[in-house]
Amino acid sequence: MLIRESVSLAPYTTIGLGGPARYFCDCASAEDVRDALEFVRRRSLPLHVLGGGSNVIFRDAGLPGLVAHIATRGMAFEASSGAGMVVNVAAGESWDALVAESVARGLSGIECLSGIPGTVGGAPIQNVGAYGQETADTLVDVECLDRQRLEHVTFDRVNCGFGYRMSRFKEVDRDRYVVLGVRLRLWRNTRPALRYAELAAAVTRRSGIEALEAPAAVALVRDVVLELRRGKSMVLDPADPNTRSVGSFFMNPIISVEAFAELKRRWDPPSFPAERGVKVPAAWLVEQAGYRKGYERNGVGVSTRHALALVNRGGTTAELLAFAEEIEQAVLAKFGVRLEREAVVV
Ligand SMILES: Cc1cc2nc3c(=O)[nH]c(=O)nc-3n(C[C@H](O)[C@H](O)[C@H](O)COP(=O)(O)OP(=O)(O)OC[C@H]3O[C@@H](n4cnc5c(N)ncnc54)[C@H](O)[C@@H]3O)c2cc1C
Repeated sequence: MLIRESVSLAPYTTIGLGGPARYFCDCASAEDVRDALEFVRRRSLPLHVLGGGSNVIFRDAGLPGLVAHIATRGMAFEASSGAGMVVNVAAGESWDALVAESVARGLSGIECLSGIPGTVGGAPIQNVGAYGQETADTLVDVECLDRQRLEHVTFDRVNCGFGYRMSRFKEVDRDRYVVLGVRLRLWRNTRPALRYAELAAAVTRRSGIEALEAPAAVALVRDVVLELRRGKSMVLDPADPNTRSVGSFFMNPIISVEAFAELKRRWDPPSFPAERGVKVPAAWLVEQAGYRKGYERNGVGVSTRHALALVNRGGTTAELLAFAEEIEQAVLAKFGVRLEREAVVV
């Protein structure tokens, strides 16, 4: 495995920010990952595991250690009992290529997650979700390499600690495991579930879904999701400067029922029920705090199509993080709500 020196990280990220990595390697196999771990151990260097770079922001100064870019390949569909079909996928595969292939085979379960950038290995890290589906819904297990013990470990879904944009890999076991592969259970001849009102309404507008066989209905849902996402600049497109982002920069805060009652009395924000409390759209908070779509300053700004996407318009990481901090303070001062970042700052 080739280890390169002083490699600029910005081109490996969707937001296009970050200085050089002292060392950089592409890991095309589990052995390469192991070699990368041994390389940093011998030199006492930090290691960063990089997937598609769609949820990561590197500092302007870069990284003094090794960036291990996961580039493993392989996707195997195996029939299982009943209507199920298990797909075993290498971490380095593109997430959207997996969704496209599954939909092309008429399988349902991840069609609402169409158009999300990044790798398959990145998906369980924050339990990616959109339009009423999330990785946890179909995940069977995650195969990992323990960075400390250099041993293979498999976590089934229950042991992944999944929550809203959260898992053990992002929280208690942050930087402990390298995801090598994921198994998902998808469904044959099963109609897509339309749990998200905006998606259900858009599908209804296309009319005729009821008359379609299940595989065609799944394909229709993928098309509609991609259309909705393009309208918000949430599908990567080099011609669309709004997509130089990490997607949603902030998570939707979940606040207590009491705190929400107080917020509603004063501001009447939109809301969604959540497992423990009430979910308030972060986009609404950001806009109401004065940071409207299209707001721009110092080479960074808010997407013209989505208030949650902070966009790099030729700025630096320092400027982006200062801008994010300013938004967080403004939302806290006005609404008493603390925004949490979805993206990983390395
Ligand atoms: C335009 C746009 C739209 C988006 N829309 C959505 C959306 O709808 N829903 C959503 O949930 N997210 C969304 N995202 C965020 C992002 O696409 C996902 O979080 C994605 O899963 C990140 O995967 P990645 O491979 O790019 O990870 P990276 O950005 O490379 O890494 C993210 C984190 O995961 C870790 N990681 C990555 N791969 C591995 C691995 N193999 N083993 C161990 N750790 C690993 C990294 O170390 C880092 O901590 C969007 C991003 C963009 C730019």
